[in-house]
Amino acid sequence: MKRILIILFCGFSACTTPTPEKAIPNFNPIISEMTINQITDTLKQKKEVQDLDRIGKGVKHAASLWRIEDGSAADFAAFCKLNFIAKEGERELFFDKVSKNLESIYGHFNKITLDLKENIDLNNGKTLDIDKEFSAYSVGAHLLDDLYANKIAFMIALNFPYYTLEEKGKLDHSFSRKAWAMVRLGDVLVSRVPAELQQAAIKAEADADIYISEYNIEMGKLRTNMGKQIFPDNLVLLSHWNLRDEIKANYGNKETGLEKQEMIYKVMERIINQDIPEKVINNPQVLWAPFTNKVFENNIEIACPAEPDRRYQQIINNFKAAKAIDAFSPEMNTLLSRKFSGEMEIPLEEVEALFTGYLRSPQLAKIGTVIEKRLGRSLRPYDIWYDGFKSRSAIPQHDLDAKTTTRYPNPKAFEADMPRMLMQLGWSKERADFLSGKITVDPARGSGHAWGASMKGEKAHLRTRIPETGMDYKGYNIAVHEFGHNIEQTNSLYNIDYYLLNGVPNTAFTEALAFIFQSRDLRLLGISNNQPDQEKLSTLDTGWSLMEIMGVGLVDMKIWKWLYAHPESTAAELKTAVLSISKEVWNAYFAPVFGIKDQPILGIYSHMISNPLYLAAYSYGQIIEFQLEEHLAGKNFSNEIDRIYQQGKMIPQRWMEGAVGTKISVQPILNKLDKALN
Ligand SMILES: [Zn+2]
Repeated sequence: MKRILIILFCGFSACTTPTPEKAIPNFNPIISEMTINQITDTLKQKKEVQDLDRIGKGVKHAASLWRIEDGSAADFAAFCKLNFIAKEGERELFFDKVSKNLESIYGHFNKITLDLKENIDLNNGKTLDIDKEFSAYSVGAHLLDDLYANKIAFMIALNFPYYTLEEKGKLDHSFSRKAWAMVRLGDVLVSRVPAELQQAAIKAEADADIYISEYNIEMGKLRTNMGKQIFPDNLVLLSHWNLRDEIKANYGNKETGLEKQEMIYKVMERIINQDIPEKVINNPQVLWAPFTNKVFENNIEIACPAEPDRRYQQIINNFKAAKAIDAFSPEMNTLLSRKFSGEMEIPLEEVEALFTGYLRSPQLAKIGTVIEKRLGRSLRPYDIWYDGFKSRSAIPQHDLDAKTTTRYPNPKAFEADMPRMLMQLGWSKERADFLSGKITVDPARGSGHAWGASMKGEKAHLRTRIPETGMDYKGYNIAVHEFGHNIEQTNSLYNIDYYLLNGVPNTAFTEALAFIFQSRDLRLLGISNNQPDQEKLSTLDTGWSLMEIMGVGLVDMKIWKWLYAHPESTAAELKTAVLSISKEVWNAYFAPVFGIKDQPILGIYSHMISNPLYLAAYSYGQIIEFQLEEHLAGKNFSNEIDRIYQQGKMIPQRWMEGAVGTKISVQPILNKLDKALN
């Protein structure tokens, strides 16, 4: 409720919290290069040091984090002399102790966070305001500040320096697991960003998220040019997800499907162009004819100003917050590099090359021709969401619901059935019991999610929403997806050799396993769903949806490049840029497939507004899933899943080579498309 009030009273989310101008500390490195060199030379005198390179690297890294409040340059020099560990055996002992303590800190903080959020996340009855306050409280917010103040952070940085992604990529294949774990320790302290700047960035994203979460279109109030209503009275769709899903749902509607799809696309265009009348957003009181853009109140046409570029102001707010952090992140001084080289660990240029290479593939136009034949008309821009290749279960929905509601009346019934599901997928009884024993199933208040543990001894949580009547098929399908996440989380925590290697390279890798599980949901219910041409159709579906998600990912990246080239731009200028970028990407890769030019549809995604530069991860998730499925065919599924996910947090390309023997590539998809198309 609180959130809604902010928007209604203020109208413009950028002004929701007027923060007073506050001096943010400027990043001025106080340790000169000369001092760094002098300290390095002194330390090199120590006879015990085997790897001389790590001295210079460690001193430089620690110096990059040292601030005036930590002491003078002389203090820094004295600190390095005292704390640099020359003997390799002692350095390993230091590493073991730090690993153990980090597991305890991260593990307990994660446990506390789960506890504090429980009354909000779980269906625990009535919530009070105190529940919301605890849920929003971040128990680990001051951890890094503390570790700098007590100098633990500098002791780690000096002895376990940060390796750039390029340096990691060059590490020898004979590099041991322990050596990789030590490199991961260097990642813990990559930069020292003031907490207020971090919080400002989180706030900008949260505000954008509120803007998006309130952006509903009252479909029952839409009218054709002739004043006809074509959507049901109470249909309210959130932009863009629900609008997109309604386009998908109407492929099966022979009578009015096309008319509805065209109207939804017009609504989307008006949102992207920001000529949507402000009064029709989230408002059931007026009627709107999207094609003429006329608005009616009590059957009388009224004048309505357009939404004043609020959509693009959100992106500008995110950009300004990111820009403030840049100076404190010397290794990765743009959000583009922090998201790609940092979080994803795949450089931006590599992502772009993969996407544009795929989008130029001649196979895509051939899929387009197949779709045109199936639809009996030429392609329209919104056919980027064509979903007629999806295999529909031959079993009616209510039969599936009946099966899952009986089998899973409550979360504990699902939990009790997990060992059987795993054994059906090939795990031994012993192993199935072990994995299931590390997962607990909770009743979610909202939609489901999977939340892993951060230390051994704690369980991963599978959250699922089960109505009084039992788990319906849709809920079951999502629960099986989350179960896949839990299997990754358990394998990559409990069966990993070094704590600092726990996890996966990035979110795309855990999503891949979640989707692999999800696609086996019917089999786990004991239903075989082999329809003729199923594999061929599913390949065409993958090929087509990958094109769409890569397209929007490219637009997202180009928007941020443009922002960095035009840092002072206004929301109106950004809007013009987004429109031209969306059309540019469309014309380069989609127009040749669709035969239509200058379409802005790729600018509609909500992620671009509230979750900057995340879209590319979806493409990677799909590619990784496909490569894993190809690899798993004909092999022992459970053994391979265990082996692959016990690699932990390697860099993405090394992980993929370890998993399937090759790097991340779209070639397997293209090969299979060739077969499906011929
Ligand atoms: Zn997921």
